[in-house]
Amino acid sequence: MILYTKPLGKWRYYSLQVVLLPDEPTYRATKQNYRMAENRTELNQIGEFGLIDRIQKQFSMQNPTSVLGIGDDAAIMDAGNDYLLVTTDMLLEGIHFDLSYMPLQHLGYKAVAVNVSDIAAMNGKPEQITIGLALSNRFSVEAIDALYSGIHAACENYKVDLVGGDTTASASGLVISITAMGRVAKDKVVKRSTAKNNDIICVTGDLGASYMGLQVLEREKQVFLTNPEMQPDLEKYEYLVGRQLKPEARMDIVHELADKNIVPTSMIDISDGLASELMHLGKNSNLGVKIFEENVPIDSMTYETAIEFKLDPITCALNGGEDYELLFTISPADHEKLKNHPDIHFIGHMHSNTQQNVMVTKQQTVVPLKAQGWNHFKSFE
Ligand SMILES: [Mg+2]
Repeated sequence: MILYTKPLGKWRYYSLQVVLLPDEPTYRATKQNYRMAENRTELNQIGEFGLIDRIQKQFSMQNPTSVLGIGDDAAIMDAGNDYLLVTTDMLLEGIHFDLSYMPLQHLGYKAVAVNVSDIAAMNGKPEQITIGLALSNRFSVEAIDALYSGIHAACENYKVDLVGGDTTASASGLVISITAMGRVAKDKVVKRSTAKNNDIICVTGDLGASYMGLQVLEREKQVFLTNPEMQPDLEKYEYLVGRQLKPEARMDIVHELADKNIVPTSMIDISDGLASELMHLGKNSNLGVKIFEENVPIDSMTYETAIEFKLDPITCALNGGEDYELLFTISPADHEKLKNHPDIHFIGHMHSNTQQNVMVTKQQTVVPLKAQGWNHFKSFE
C-alpha cells in the first residue's frame, strides 16, 4: 500500500513496507513525526481527555455489532444473546509505577484488577484477559515469574482466564498492557451516559487512601535514597500502602446489586479521582452533579495521614485517584434497598443544571468541582 502526500509542493510517496525518501535525508521523517513546525499543538495543551475526544471524532462505527465505542469504561459489542465488553489498560514503569517500591507480584495483580474494575463499571462479569508485555534484560526469569504469580492470583480471584498476549523487548522500562473481556445481559449493561435527573449518587468503600499510600511510599523512598541503612516504617500505613499497591476491583458490589435486583442508572470506576469521574457522569448524562462533603467516605487513616502530610483530606478524596471504587447512580426508588448497606455511601444527586457541578462543604459553602484527573503528559515537559 502506498500513501501519497504532497508536502511543500512536491510529490513523495511513503510505502508502508519501506519508507522511501530518495531526495531527502532520512532525518526528514523524524522531523515530520516529532517537530511539525506549523500548527504544532502540545499534548499537554489538550490533555488525556482532549486527546481521546480528538481520536473519537475521527472514527465512526462501520459494523452493527459495535454498539458503543470510545468514551466509556469498556466498549460494548453485540454477541447475540449478551453484550461483550472489552477494555484495555496500559501500565508503564516510571509513569504508573515505580519498581523501587512496587513488588512485581503486586504489579501483576494490580494490572489485572484495574481492567476488571472497568468491566465491573459496565455492570459486567470479566471472563478473559490477554497480556502485552515489554521487557528488558534487566529482568530475570524469576522476576517475570513473580509478575505472573500476581497475575495468576488476580485471575483466580476474579475468575478470569488468561488466553493470550504478546511479549517483546523494551528499550525503556517495563510496560504491561492488559485487555479484559467480559459479558453482561443486554438489559443489565450500565453506561456513563444514562443517569436521570434526581438520581442518587453512590460511591463504594472509601476514597483517597490509595493516593495517601503513594505519598507514604514516595516519602519512604526519599528517606531510603538519603540513607540506605534506614528501614522503611510502613506498618502504621499498611492500609494506605495496600490500597496503592494492591487495589481490588469491586466485583462484590456488582454481584450484590444483581442479588438485590438493582441496575444502576449510570456507573464508572474511580481511577482518576472522584471529581473527575463525577464530571464524566454529569457530562455524558447531560446533567449536573451536586455532592455533600460530609457524605464523602474517607477512612480515618487517610484523614490522619493527609493532615500529617499537610494535605486537605477532601482534596485527596476528590482528586487522588486510583481508588478503583465504583461510582454509580440509582433511581430514588432503589434507595430503600441499599440504605443499610455498610459499604455504599450516598454522596449527592444529579440535577438538571449542566453548568452546576458542585460540592456543598461541611461549612455549607457551595464550591465548584474541578476535575484534575491525571495529566501524564505533564511528565514530559
Ligand atoms: Mg474506568
